[in-house]
Amino acid sequence: SEELIIQSEKLSAVGQLAAGVAHEIRNPLTALKGFLQLLQVESRENVKEYCDIMQNELNRIEMILSELLVLAKPQGMNFEPRKINVILKDVIALLETQAILNNVTIIQRFDMPVPVVLCEESRLKQVFVNIIKNAIEAMQNGGELEIRLEVRQDNVCIQFVDEGEGIPKEQISKLGNPFYTTKSQGTGLGLMLSKRIIEDHNGQIHITSEIGKGTCVSIVLPLA
Ligand code: ADP
Ligand code: MG
Repeated sequence: SEELIIQSEKLSAVGQLAAGVAHEIRNPLTALKGFLQLLQVESRENVKEYCDIMQNELNRIEMILSELLVLAKPQGMNFEPRKINVILKDVIALLETQAILNNVTIIQRFDMPVPVVLCEESRLKQVFVNIIKNAIEAMQNGGELEIRLEVRQDNVCIQFVDEGEGIPKEQISKLGNPFYTTKSQGTGLGLMLSKRIIEDHNGQIHITSEIGKGTCVSIVLPLA
């Protein structure tokens, strides 16, 4: 599998992604095959344990594939004028329970004039969900996540400022590479997809971070 990774450096972006998918899906499949073999000779007591492991590996494959499906854009994305503060509030409401369970307080600092953006609402929501989840997951001991929304000239700027563990300098450039993750349950696809979606909206995404202090993810989108 190391060879696969080295070779993939010579491939195109699409080829690299395909190689990554193959690699990521082969690991859980190998585990599934192994446990199926074990099941054939095992006693009853072990069956439950093996089934749990197999269930986990299948969930992982499912998660990877459902995140990748977003890359297959449906023909003609439907861009419509939407109030960005409303979209953000919807997503925050959706993740509020997860935040509370992790001792994270979400603070909203939204500028008053209501910024309207031409967007594919479901895609933008997906970006915000990814980024807020990352922030919550980075705050193992809880903390504050401040979400700022400001209008600057012809753009709206959205910042997600967390008090999490931060990201080491040498890892910042790896963010957004497919399958780059530091989490045992991560897919490493969230930031890659987010970047792609924001670029489809003619926007930009930037990440700054300080170890032990926290991370700031900024998104700039053109106003409608
Ligand atoms: P995943 O969440 O599945 O790991 P992502 O693409 O969303 O994949 O994130 C990739 C990696 O970037 C994470 O595993 C983590 O190491 C790092 N990261 C992203 N957001 C943050 C954050 N707010 N604080 C600290 N690290 C982060
Ligand atoms: Mg993520």
